[in-house]
Amino acid sequence: MKIVDIRPTTVTVPLEAPLRHSNGEHWGRFVRTVIEVETDDGLIGLGEMGGGGESAELQFLGLKPYLVGHDPFALEELRFKICNPTASLYNNRTQLMAAIEFACLDIVGQALGLPVYKLLGGKLRDEVPLSSYLFFRYRSDDGRYDEVRTIEQLLAHTRELKETYGFRTHKLKAGVFDPGYELEAYQALAGEFPEDSFRIDPNACWSVEESIWFASQIEHIRNDYLEDPTWGLNGMRRVREKTRIPLATNTVVVNFEQLAQNILHPAADVILLDTTFWGGIRACMKAAHVCETFQLGVSVHSSGELGIQLATMLHLGAVLPNLSFDIDAHYHHLRDDIVQGGKFRIIDGKIQVPEEPGLGVKLDRERLQHYAELYKKLGGYPYDRDSRRPGWYPLLPNERWADPTIAE
Ligand SMILES: [Mg+2]
Repeated sequence: MKIVDIRPTTVTVPLEAPLRHSNGEHWGRFVRTVIEVETDDGLIGLGEMGGGGESAELQFLGLKPYLVGHDPFALEELRFKICNPTASLYNNRTQLMAAIEFACLDIVGQALGLPVYKLLGGKLRDEVPLSSYLFFRYRSDDGRYDEVRTIEQLLAHTRELKETYGFRTHKLKAGVFDPGYELEAYQALAGEFPEDSFRIDPNACWSVEESIWFASQIEHIRNDYLEDPTWGLNGMRRVREKTRIPLATNTVVVNFEQLAQNILHPAADVILLDTTFWGGIRACMKAAHVCETFQLGVSVHSSGELGIQLATMLHLGAVLPNLSFDIDAHYHHLRDDIVQGGKFRIIDGKIQVPEEPGLGVKLDRERLQHYAELYKKLGGYPYDRDSRRPGWYPLLPNERWADPTIAE
């Protein structure tokens, strides 16, 4: 079997409301590049990447000469063909490789009549549990979704998500307001939902000392972990020496070099595997096996997925014996999806692992077209800027916090 074509399409899919984070904002929508990889026997595999608010169409088209004629079963060959680590010093294609790997696994699964999880060793669970993903957010432009800024609004939002989706674990995206205010918010959540567990992630924007202080204040809470409180392996290591709460990361252990460093000189206890950052589902599995050997915790990171990447996260989540925590997913913030049947359903805080051959998702052509046109109309957005705070950008560690008393 040979690849004959790759077709990228950039889409933008609306979120319920603009999501705030330490570097800026998701401007009320996600921009994703969907790829279709076609083979000489007419199979089409799907892949997806994005997260930074921009299109990757040109980068995928640039890889067409590498891909045409390649056998989609030959994934290790493909890794060295386009992702040789020495060549990657100039052209880092890890995330492109990931999207192409998703599509090739989708093709292989369809060719063999098997869901991707069967290609990965078989599932250990039928459903993958998810955490809620709590963001401070702006009111949506159409007024359908209210802001989340005050602690009362955060509690009401969490209650609604719990009622709608059944979440029992909650992740608070922090790093927007000063750490004292966010501590108050986190403690309020833990007090309001005493049966649930919690994690907080300021995207590495606190100093080492602030991180140590924050950790000392939340020891009484049922924490899954404290995620990337500060930047860098050394910063994390210094925090880890002074706290009893497990530290997790999706920023400083995102490749095998860093994983090796983290094993030799521990900085994080839980590795949040991202099927895009690591270069594919198979790379995440290899990393998970290393983590299993050294008894590091593992979960699955979310990079702002639509249904195609969500499917990769579900297949991965289904096969990992050491999936120690409910996975992350921005997914519940989306208003729609580009896959047939619309959005995956979250029931009792879980999503069913797809059973159809391949990734188990198909494109809804009408929706794809609709959101491709919306992208053409709205364009990309700067993920590291905040539309309501022109000229602002953070320091690292940050001190330029937003003011929680002001509705922006
Ligand atoms: Mg994170």
